[in-house]
Amino acid sequence: MDIQKTAIVTGAFGGIGTAIVQSLVENHFFVIAVASQRRTQADFDQWLNEANINPKQVQAVFLDVTDTQACKQALDLLIEEHQHIDVLVNNAGITRDSTFKKMSFEQWREVIDTNLNSLFNMTQPLFAHMCVQKQGRIINISSVNGQKGQFGQANYAAAKAGMIGFSKSLAYEGARAGVTVNVVAPGYTETPMVAAMKPEVLDNIRGQVPMQRLATPEEVAKAVRFLASDDAAYITGETLALNGGLYMN
Ligand code: NDP
Repeated sequence: MDIQKTAIVTGAFGGIGTAIVQSLVENHFFVIAVASQRRTQADFDQWLNEANINPKQVQAVFLDVTDTQACKQALDLLIEEHQHIDVLVNNAGITRDSTFKKMSFEQWREVIDTNLNSLFNMTQPLFAHMCVQKQGRIINISSVNGQKGQFGQANYAAAKAGMIGFSKSLAYEGARAGVTVNVVAPGYTETPMVAAMKPEVLDNIRGQVPMQRLATPEEVAKAVRFLASDDAAYITGETLALNGGLYMN
């Protein structure tokens, strides 16, 4: 098989991350699957098997995306190893929901660190490299709740909205070099993150979505794949919403 391009995907073992990796691999990418430092080689082997991914097209890197120094070191090594890295998908994310009155600084900090500061940590070492190679795609996974806000998610919405401002700003800086920076903003998606919610809360969410259903991880992955493709070469600074009509910007 002719593998043409290399992509880095963070949060690769998660619900949406797995679908993104599968989709890019199907499209002949070589994928560097970034999993958290909590994961092991055994987890990687199990994930490959369960997700039915060709091991020849994927390499695992175990990395805490909140650790600035570790990200820089890992990315410098990856650039040296692969020479050409075409796509970065910043997908790692967490929630620590609480009403703001009860929110601890730790809940705020963890969410900002993982969802927003990770963008600095993962993108900065790679961005200059992409500008020199005069080609690159940075795709950041935000959320409908970063666009519209959400009760009990002041931390998460702040981080996810921050991703949008970051992407628009970096789009200016990358434009001349052909480095595009875009956002995919999914609505509620059928993943373990959402499965952890109470059934009555989920029913309520479904009821609010004009399409009356959640997104599938595959639908999110298709949007990412499009933005990573040659067809999206002239799209930058854009936020592609996938929310079944829940929020129309
Ligand atoms: P998952 O919880 O399934 O996946 C999130 C992934 O992020 C996990 O694999 C996790 O690794 C990884 N991660 C968390 N913290 C770190 C860290 N410090 N360093 C490295 N990796 C880390 O969630 P989803 O697949 O549902 O979400 C993916 C993205 O999509 C997130 O950014 C989320 O905010 C966003 N999103 C999700 C929606 C949904 O409804 N599911 C809706 C809108 C946006 P590990 O498993 O090892 O902890």
